[in-house]
Amino acid sequence: MPHFSRVAVIGAGAGGLVSARELSREGHHVVVFERNTQIGGTWVYSPKIESDPLGVDPDRTRIHSSLFKSLRTNIPRELMGVRDFPFVPREGEDRDPRRFPSHTEVLKYLEDFANEFGVYKFVRFGTEVVFAGLEENGKWRIEFRCENGDVDYEIFDAVVVCVGLYSQPRVAEIPGIDRWPGEQVHSHNYRDPERFRGKVVVLIGYSSSGTDISLELIGVAKEIHIVWRSPKTELLDRESVISNVSFHPMIESVCKDGTVVFQDGCVVLADVILHCTGYNYHFPFLETNGNVTVDDNRVGPLYKHVFPPALAPGLSFVGLPFKVIPFPLFELQSNWVAGVLSKRIALPSKEEMLADVKAFYEDLEALGKPKHRTHLLGDYMMPTYCNWLATTCGCPPYEEWRKKMNISVHLYRMPNLKTYRDDWHDDELIHQAYEEFSKV
Ligand code: FAD
Repeated sequence: MPHFSRVAVIGAGAGGLVSARELSREGHHVVVFERNTQIGGTWVYSPKIESDPLGVDPDRTRIHSSLFKSLRTNIPRELMGVRDFPFVPREGEDRDPRRFPSHTEVLKYLEDFANEFGVYKFVRFGTEVVFAGLEENGKWRIEFRCENGDVDYEIFDAVVVCVGLYSQPRVAEIPGIDRWPGEQVHSHNYRDPERFRGKVVVLIGYSSSGTDISLELIGVAKEIHIVWRSPKTELLDRESVISNVSFHPMIESVCKDGTVVFQDGCVVLADVILHCTGYNYHFPFLETNGNVTVDDNRVGPLYKHVFPPALAPGLSFVGLPFKVIPFPLFELQSNWVAGVLSKRIALPSKEEMLADVKAFYEDLEALGKPKHRTHLLGDYMMPTYCNWLATTCGCPPYEEWRKKMNISVHLYRMPNLKTYRDDWHDDELIHQAYEEFSKV
């Protein structure tokens, strides 16, 4: 006998929208709490920055999105879209048909998705969840602050947390930083290069945001000193010939005269340290009596990154894994949550889930992976994880062309950071993608 629940979804970014669709398709009654006044989460660009540009002051004015003005996707649209609602170019003057479109096009795609599947009716805008906790009767109490400041509550059978990963900056620990007189900014609060014109910038981290931002700073900043853990590669040698860019291993210390000392012995007088150092998981509203903790950025224990064994299936998380193709992943994770809640899909016992998590942690440890990489899937793990979810949910497997396209783009990207968005193409894989889309 199917069982339908009243489910609270927290957040109306891509994860919350896709979850709302999967849950409602399954027959559940859904309410999506969204503190913003529109859907889209990360993809709602704001030119404003937070009152603390480093993003560490707990009382700072907050901006959810980390987008910068010129951002284009770093994944081809064919890969990005939800599997049964492909992100194909749409007609219209204000649409961006490029394969790696601007952030505004992604927001429009999410709005198209919400219209197509009637998701707007589930969303309560301007409601910030300030507390989510279990009642004695096994139900979930959700307290939310409305736009007029009033706090109200409602009771649900289950809660799906979809609050995103990119709003709580993580900053590098730098010896001597307290007395260093320069300016510090986190990439969360980077919007365009103007603020850095003519300045000597030390940029820490050279992952997705760090690479894009450093390219924008070339020709604007006076000097760019990129701090990157990885050993020198051909790429670095090629980038280093650009006159105002240099690469360094780590920062040794910073001093009160404004200098930054690197481990390679270089010393520079810098104006700004720009932290492109990622984010921390942050669930300030969640009360689980210690059943879920965030320890060195490991959210756990969670069975397959979604269900805490002690609180499943009432509490679940959609969208925790990173270095993934997010939207198709949300689709599968939330299909699983929806199916488990309706009893279409059985979960293992609490003991079996805990044993699975324990074995997973032991594997990570044996591979020398620190806790903060627990939810990192990457190009190779993502298909395996998605296929596990697809099999569990009775969904079609993760397509081979997706796997190959992801790896192809990834390999092309690093040596072609400046141009890959316009140059990358693989006719055969693109053809396979559109063949697949024609069946939807
Ligand atoms: P979010 O989009 O962050 O949505 C979370 C929502 O929860 C927000 O609307 C927020 O207001 C709401 N919320 C938070 N707390 C509360 C609360 N207490 N109460 C009520 N509401 C709350 N992905 C790609 O696929 N392709 C890309 O090219 C790409 N580029 C990216 C570039 C950058 C700089 C960043 C930061 C991310 C990028 N991503 C990209 C990943 C992107 O985060 C995902 O695509 C996706 O948007 C994440 O969706 P989400 O729903 O998990 O989180």
